[in-house]
Amino acid sequence: PAPTAVHPERWPAAQSPGLVDARNEARITAIMARMSLREKIGQMIQADTASITPEDLRTYPLGSILAGGNSPPLGAPDRSPAAAWVATAQAFNAVATEKREGHEPVPIMFGIDAVHGNSNVVGATIFPHNSGLGAMHDPALMREIGKATAAETAASGIDWAFGPTLAVPQDDRWGRAYEGYSEDPALVAAYAGPMVEGLQGKPGSQTTVQAGHVAASVKHFLGDGGTAGGIDQGDTRVDEDTLIRIHDAGYPKAVNAGTMTVMASFSSWNGVKMHGNKALLTDVLKGRMGFDGFVVGDWNGHGQIPGCTNTDCPATFNAGLDMAMAPDSWKGLFESTLAAAKSGEIPMARIDDAVRRILRVKMKLGLFDPARPYEHRPQEMGSVAHRAIARQAVRESLVLLKNEGVLPIKPSATVLVAGDAADDIGRQAGGWTLSWQGDGNTNADFPGATSIYAGIARAVKKAGGKAILSPEGSFAQKPDVAVVVFGEEPYAELRGDVRTLEFQPGHKKALALLKKLKAAGVPTVSVFLSGRPLWVNPELNQSDAFVAAWFPGSEGEGVADVLVGGQTDFHGTLSFSWPKTAGQFTLNKGAAGYDPLFPLGYGLTYATGGHVGPLAEEPGIDASDSNSSTFIEEGIVAKPFQIKADAGVSHRLVDSADRQEGAIRFAFTSAGKASILGPNLTLERESNADMNVEVTYRVDAQAQAPVTLALGSGAVRIDKSLADQGQWAKLRIPLKCFAEHGT
Ligand code: BGC
Repeated sequence: PAPTAVHPERWPAAQSPGLVDARNEARITAIMARMSLREKIGQMIQADTASITPEDLRTYPLGSILAGGNSPPLGAPDRSPAAAWVATAQAFNAVATEKREGHEPVPIMFGIDAVHGNSNVVGATIFPHNSGLGAMHDPALMREIGKATAAETAASGIDWAFGPTLAVPQDDRWGRAYEGYSEDPALVAAYAGPMVEGLQGKPGSQTTVQAGHVAASVKHFLGDGGTAGGIDQGDTRVDEDTLIRIHDAGYPKAVNAGTMTVMASFSSWNGVKMHGNKALLTDVLKGRMGFDGFVVGDWNGHGQIPGCTNTDCPATFNAGLDMAMAPDSWKGLFESTLAAAKSGEIPMARIDDAVRRILRVKMKLGLFDPARPYEHRPQEMGSVAHRAIARQAVRESLVLLKNEGVLPIKPSATVLVAGDAADDIGRQAGGWTLSWQGDGNTNADFPGATSIYAGIARAVKKAGGKAILSPEGSFAQKPDVAVVVFGEEPYAELRGDVRTLEFQPGHKKALALLKKLKAAGVPTVSVFLSGRPLWVNPELNQSDAFVAAWFPGSEGEGVADVLVGGQTDFHGTLSFSWPKTAGQFTLNKGAAGYDPLFPLGYGLTYATGGHVGPLAEEPGIDASDSNSSTFIEEGIVAKPFQIKADAGVSHRLVDSADRQEGAIRFAFTSAGKASILGPNLTLERESNADMNVEVTYRVDAQAQAPVTLALGSGAVRIDKSLADQGQWAKLRIPLKCFAEHGT
């Protein structure tokens, strides 16, 4: 598609405090004068810990290492404590800083998804996910959260947090909605600066940031929260003014706060992939906004640009990407980028600009200093002070949706704590926690944390009350009240996309529990753990009180602080509108027909009380409606990957009915040409065995060559002669399935 015209002058300019420091720039000039082309290209490429060894850096002098999703530290298992991460950073840096080419050695920059606390590291304080933080409406506390996150990240030897996410989610079906603070751009804008400053420290004239701070990476630039259908990595189809008003709201603020890096989005804007969008990356972000840090790509995101592959993509650098996240494709990308530099396909000035930006950030971070400030400080991890901030955040994030006199709970009460998430810190933490999707975490993986049950038990014990844990809601002696903790299972990108906002379509396990307690005459308080608002009318009807607790993280005591005793009142108000039907995917305050169940800003307090209902119990959409489908979950253990088709290709996956072959029971048919851009699907496999996928596809009669079918982040180019245009044809594609993140 033709790129939508961009008018940089219409975009808000930022007043960047500037990362440019005269002394640093002179030092960078001296280093760059002695750097070989290989070394320069190396700076522009980032590999994942799962796919590179420190020794590789001797041949390939890469600029950065990441531990994405569930990549473990070097030689250590998943769910390792900080010491293993420090050792990893040190091992890579030891090789990177061996003196070469007669200039100062350039250290690596080590990044991780510290997206709600340093959430990949065992023992870290886990803050509520961003949708919960939005409900606090407390920018000052955001700054403290940023500082604590930075302290625990730096104390793990890590230089760089891939956050905050400045998405402004517009469709709650999007599985990353919880990574956004709000559907309201004003709130995202209000949080962007404090969070960046919390992570990096106050911007200013110092040559280096203070110890205990890390680089931020605001993401995903731009429009990640606006994709049609709420489809992850999809296409954001809005005009330029809407893109500016909604999706760009946080970026000028982040640039003003001195954000050192910006991550490009997987998504596209009106058909053009952000990794290749020169007008937005270069003219707007670096030009109009004056951003002088560097732009990093997302996980093989460059490979999704038409004409690119994971291992070859000069176009992304020419568009303005400075460092490509090439987790497992780094070697090929290094060689092809080197060749493109030699041939002039990527101009030398562009390479020098990218390298200068990267060195600028590294120098500002203090990585060049012999006394590198980032060392192992175990006392920072999950410290009392940080946990107190997280507990405060939990208290402030809870939103009371209904209360028919049952809350607050008397501290002397006998409380039944029920529901499948009652004593489950993994469920409190959600995705992007110790593993990519948040699967398989147990309470033992969270030393020092408290579950909601444990928090309530402590709170009532002090006053002679008692808490009884029974996830299935059994009791011998009738309790005074039941707190029922339930909600969404953990998920992250791709897998988290849903096609209906109905909670538990098809099984209604939580509802059955609530009904059982009601029948037994026990007053119930529902504590709902979710990343986003969902349609829960039936559960609301069965509850005497209902609390939206989001994904609160490691400090379950924060929930008890508010529920028990009544000393601490509710504070949170919705930063996402709550739907009245399961089909209210997008709800924009101020737009015509805005008719949610609970509007943006809703939230009761003990002072205000709160009768609700009875509410209609028809979801309002048919969950089996394939038009709203993004994927059909098989319910087996996940290793998601994606299949997408570019415009012009219709595709259909066929169930080979043979599980060994990677049988995929998949009922998706893309209807017509117009819907082709959007649909992507997540297929789930029990193991990492290789498999064949059979794709039935049709090249539309009007389609222009070349036609590409992107598999995962790679692409298969279909020669049009393979299929008569307009005819269905079959393609069997052998897929290598990796156990790692994202492939
Ligand atoms: C996500 C990013 C993340 C990166 C590294 C990608 O798949 O989109 O948000 O920072 O992986 O794990």
